[in-house]
Amino acid sequence: MSGTMSKDVEQPAKGEDAHTHFGFRDVDARLKQGLVNDVFARVADRYDLMNDLMSGGLHRLWKDDVINWLAPPKGELRHRLLDVAGGTGDIAKRYLRAGGDGCRALVCDISGEMLAAGRDKLGRHVVGGRAEFLQGNGEALPLRDGSFDAYTIAFGIRNVTHLDRALDEAYRVLKPGGRFLCLEFSEVDVPFLESIYDAWSFQVIPRIGELAAGDGEPYRYLVESIRRFPNQERFAAMIGDAGFERVRFRNLTGGIAAIHSGWRL
Ligand code: SAM
Repeated sequence: MSGTMSKDVEQPAKGEDAHTHFGFRDVDARLKQGLVNDVFARVADRYDLMNDLMSGGLHRLWKDDVINWLAPPKGELRHRLLDVAGGTGDIAKRYLRAGGDGCRALVCDISGEMLAAGRDKLGRHVVGGRAEFLQGNGEALPLRDGSFDAYTIAFGIRNVTHLDRALDEAYRVLKPGGRFLCLEFSEVDVPFLESIYDAWSFQVIPRIGELAAGDGEPYRYLVESIRRFPNQERFAAMIGDAGFERVRFRNLTGGIAAIHSGWRL
């Protein structure tokens, strides 16, 4: 990444109010979640279309990769997934399709607008009856300790204010033996791809936002927030700090995105 797009941004310490980032802007940490919520309220009804346009459909393959790595059980074996920042339900839909009748998914998101879009979409889908929806904050989940077999978060964790709190919550709600998987944009590790990716992100994506959704601003935040997120190694270390073991990551499409995996043992 270029020097002006540093990812080396400190997260505020646990429990501490401090400044943080909202895209490339520094903001009071207490304001960030409200700003993020405004973004997703504005994009919710065009979110799926914009995902396809912005990623050229790649997000679909990356989400398939998450579920392939998770390998939900087939058959009647009871298995519960919590998909945090689950938005319009793409991960839950794939999980329920891949798993057997014993699989249940809870989609949790802080945005009522995104959840409404997800509920509509999954309601039209054959596996929708095995999904539930909950409005909640990934930093303080209104859920019991040790109640899920798997926790996923796709393109969600970079939006939370305190990454460490979200990771602690993931650990808390997983059962011993539970699996954590996070899909997030990451650091490109192929030199020629970097400049193409930067041009696409900063010039093309906000323009697509203006043309397809009538508003480029939320998409500017989305691409800026990607550049402020810790790189693969640093994020893996944070997952380990939350208590997860056997932490690994896989790069997707030259590191444009990465899946991180960990286990609560
Ligand atoms: N997971 C979906 C996907 O991959 O298509 C949606 C990802 S969307 C880029 C990010 C989601 O994170 C939004 O739905 C937003 O409302 C949600 N979000 C942001 N902050 C959150 C928080 N603190 N707790 C839970 N969800 C949050």
